[in-house]
Formats: sequence, C-alpha cells, structure tokens
Amino acid sequence: MLEPRGDKKVLCAGLICLDILSVMDHYPVEDTDNRIKRQIWQKGGNCANSAAVVAQLDEQAEFFGTLATGRAADIIINTSTGSRTIIHTDKDLPELTFSQFQQLDLNQYKWIHFEGRNMAEVSQMVNAVQEYNHSRSMEDKINISGECEKAKYKPEYFTSTVDVLFIAKEFAQHHGFSSAHAAVDGFHRRAKKGATVVCAWGEAGADVMGPDGVHHHSDAFSPGQVVDTLGAGDTFNGAIIAAMCRSLPLDEVLKFGCRVAGKKCGQFGYRGLG
Ligand code: ADP
Repeated sequence: MLEPRGDKKVLCAGLICLDILSVMDHYPVEDTDNRIKRQIWQKGGNCANSAAVVAQLDEQAEFFGTLATGRAADIIINTSTGSRTIIHTDKDLPELTFSQFQQLDLNQYKWIHFEGRNMAEVSQMVNAVQEYNHSRSMEDKINISGECEKAKYKPEYFTSTVDVLFIAKEFAQHHGFSSAHAAVDGFHRRAKKGATVVCAWGEAGADVMGPDGVHHHSDAFSPGQVVDTLGAGDTFNGAIIAAMCRSLPLDEVLKFGCRVAGKKCGQFGYRGLG
C-alpha cells in the first residue's frame, strides 16, 4: 500500500460549490452598515479543494461530484485574524449517487478520497471499492480515505472501513475529544486494522497514528500573517494524500500537510501551493 503507482490517479468524491468571500478588516456588528474590502468568487467544496491541492503536488487528481446551478456559500473573512464565518445553503443541490459512481472505471485509480456526506450512497461506494480491492494484488489495490467533518451527516461509517481516516476538529469535539492527540488515539482504536488516523487541530497543528500504533505530532507552520483560513483542512487533507502517495514516512507526511496548509493560511485561495 501507499507505493507510487505509475500513472494511476487520485479521485476525490464529494462537493463542489461556489464560495463568495466578503473580505473585511473586522467582524461586522449586527444591525450596522459595513463596507467590504473586496469580494472573491472561488471554487469551494471540501473535495474539490482537496483535489485542486493534490493536483498541484505532482499527482494526477480527478474530482467526482455533482455540479449545480445556484449553489453558493457566502463567507466573511476577517483579515485581522484570518477567521472565516460561513453562511450556506444546499437547497436543491443534487447529491452524488452510487449508480453514478458505478460508471467509473476503478482501474484508473490508486486512491479514492470520500467526503463524509450523503452517507447512504457513499457507504455503497466504499463497499464497491473494497469489493474491487478483494480480487486485486497488493500493488493494484486502491487506498480509500474518508473525511469525518460534519457530524450531522453521520460519517461514522468511515471510522471502521477506510484505510486513511481524516478526523476534523469539529467532528472530534462532537465525539468528546479535546485535542488531536486524544482524537487520534480514540479513533485508531475503532479504526480498521492497519488504518492510519489523521487529525488536524487548527493552530495547534495535527497528529497522526499509523498501522504500527506510533503517534506523531506536528506543530502548525505559521505563514507570518494569517489572512484566510478557509479550506485549511481541505488543503491539509490534499497534501497528506499527495505525501502518502510518495510513501514518505508518516512524521514527514504530517509535517508536509501542516506546511502546505500553513502556506494556504497566508494567502487567499489555493493557487501556488506546490
Ligand atoms: P479546517 O479548515 O477543517 O477548520 P483546521 O483549522 O483544523 O482545518 O486546519 C488544518 C490545518 O491547517 C492545521 O493542522 C494547520 O496545520 C493548518 N492551520 C490552520 N490554521 C492555521 C493557522 N492559523 N496558522 C497556521 N496553520 C494553520
């Protein structure tokens, strides 16, 4: 597992949407009149962002998801802290279905990353990839990763099925963990045998535990001035996947993920991270 495999690709399956960023130098007070510094329209959605990052890090990446007209996420960025406040709608957004996934030729892929949403369909996709893996030699197996972020989508199915489990801070806290260290320990116990569990924790950096049960921590890499933390987690996930495709040791994988995510926090958007 996790060996570089020729021209096979990384597939990210999940959401793409339009993010509309309103950039302000302070957070607005309710019922006041405020002028924004600038407005940016950019691609958003966890998996679309992660795919864009993977593609910049010398891997072939593909995004798989549904496109909709009229879905936009309004986001307020406060440049004094880099904080992001998200207001979104998913009204009428078509979700990815298992029958659409079945149209893919899985032979093209060495890694499939799933976003933890629409789990009734996504769990069938995970099962299909596992089925595919059963009859494949070690080097032809597809690595499966899953991101548990929003508890409302109940992504717990990933915790015992995927090879690389991404636990977001929000999800870890929902399960009662108060640090990346504790979350990685806790979820590694529930994870599939041989799995790797990764957990990012904002400015506190991130932790990982691989199949050998050894714990690693990396501090965050400060970009100097934090201007935009939107998508830091998506960037981190993409960088971790790209680094694991290169078979780097896990402590270096983790540092790499934090370094690329830190760089992202010092700029708007996801360009120039490679
Ligand atoms: P999310 O976007 O899901 O909230 P996190 O806030 O947990 O993601 O951040 C993911 C990674 O991004 C962290 O592990 C860290 O390496 C990096 N990061 C996040 N915030 C900062 C920050 N203020 N300074 C430097 N790095 C950061």
